[in-house]
Amino acid sequence: MKRRDFMKSTAVATALTASGAFGATALTAEAARSDKPMVRRYSPLGKTGVKMGDIAFGAGRLPSASLILRAIDRGVNYIDTAPDYGPSEDLIGDALTRFRQRDKVYIASKFCHPIPYQSGRSHLQVGSSRKEYIESVESSLKRLGTDYLDVVFVHAIGEKASFGDEKARLVDDEMLEAVEVLKKQGKIRALAVSSHGPHNMEKLMLEAVRSGHFDAIMPAFNFMQFPKLPEVLDEAYRRGVGVVAMKTLAGDKKAGAKSGGPEFAQAAFKWVLKHPGVSGLVITMKSVSDLDRYIPASGQGFTPGDQKVLDRYAALHGMDYCRTGCGDCEAGCDEGVPVATILRQQMYFEDYGDEKRAMQGYAHLTKSAAACLACSGDPCNDGCAYGLKVGGKLRAAHRTLSFDLQVG
Ligand code: SF4
Ligand code: SF4
Repeated sequence: MKRRDFMKSTAVATALTASGAFGATALTAEAARSDKPMVRRYSPLGKTGVKMGDIAFGAGRLPSASLILRAIDRGVNYIDTAPDYGPSEDLIGDALTRFRQRDKVYIASKFCHPIPYQSGRSHLQVGSSRKEYIESVESSLKRLGTDYLDVVFVHAIGEKASFGDEKARLVDDEMLEAVEVLKKQGKIRALAVSSHGPHNMEKLMLEAVRSGHFDAIMPAFNFMQFPKLPEVLDEAYRRGVGVVAMKTLAGDKKAGAKSGGPEFAQAAFKWVLKHPGVSGLVITMKSVSDLDRYIPASGQGFTPGDQKVLDRYAALHGMDYCRTGCGDCEAGCDEGVPVATILRQQMYFEDYGDEKRAMQGYAHLTKSAAACLACSGDPCNDGCAYGLKVGGKLRAAHRTLSFDLQVG
């Protein structure tokens, strides 16, 4: 969005906020005419001035600049990227500058360094200086070829078990002072926070909403997990804090097959988007067929037929899907194995087909699942209310993610 348009949209959003009208709007004439699936619903993201399409582009595995242009042609207007998503910011910058598309999209990026994805060390933590926060944004701007970000995220809060440590990231003076400077300079429009757990995600999101520091939140949210999240969403809605959802496909098991094909993805998206206050969801797109698979859910209501599709998926995969953002079984492990994080890497490898980054992420963990190979009795199994055979899954994950094929 251009600065002038941004100011206009901010004024519109403020007016909408004042009148309590946070509702979604508009099917564009372009969408109505197109024979391709188009984004059909756009909603204000809280009071940020961003009016985002309900299906947003997750650029974590962006293969080419051209896919960004194709998505924009389909009405996608919100792109989620990060410095540690490989060449993502460079490719987006290439697409937007060469083809002058910056004014067609909102860009969200993260406070982090461009070092391997999911290493956990790339996200700026408490202890990072104001200067590092500012430099993080400035280097994103350089790669993206733009002079402002619409949204910047404190990313992946809830990775440490200590609630206090993670809460400190929400109120870190160095981060907040950097944000003040960056907002004054017009380099960022809004501050947000994201979490896929595994620890205290709902509590941390609620803290963020109530803190008054954050313009938007991006929690993991799907039909199989996070029963308390709707309370957080209600609070966010009341306070005019925008909500974008992620990890909406509940593991995306057997994508392309009957249980996980387009019908499933669309049902899962519609379930998330039926919640008032959820302006949109970020889904990783890495091909044109992903656009075709995901975008048809835009602007559609959730139906009893969708519920049946989700019920079937839950019946098939309920005892196999490690709930993103959980971590309940970790207390039963004396070795301190970060079960949820490892099984998330395994999900990236096995279900998302993102082998390289999953293995990189696993290699960077401070604790692997090697201890599980010699564990007797798998006491962690007892801690999983969903019935997952946790120990067995961890041993399989270790072999897959570390290429350790010898040990059984
Ligand atoms: S299998 Fe044993 S070592 Fe591994 S997570 Fe479970 S309890 Fe911990
Ligand atoms: S294995 Fe079960 S208890 Fe452990 S993190 Fe996954 S869903 Fe939660």
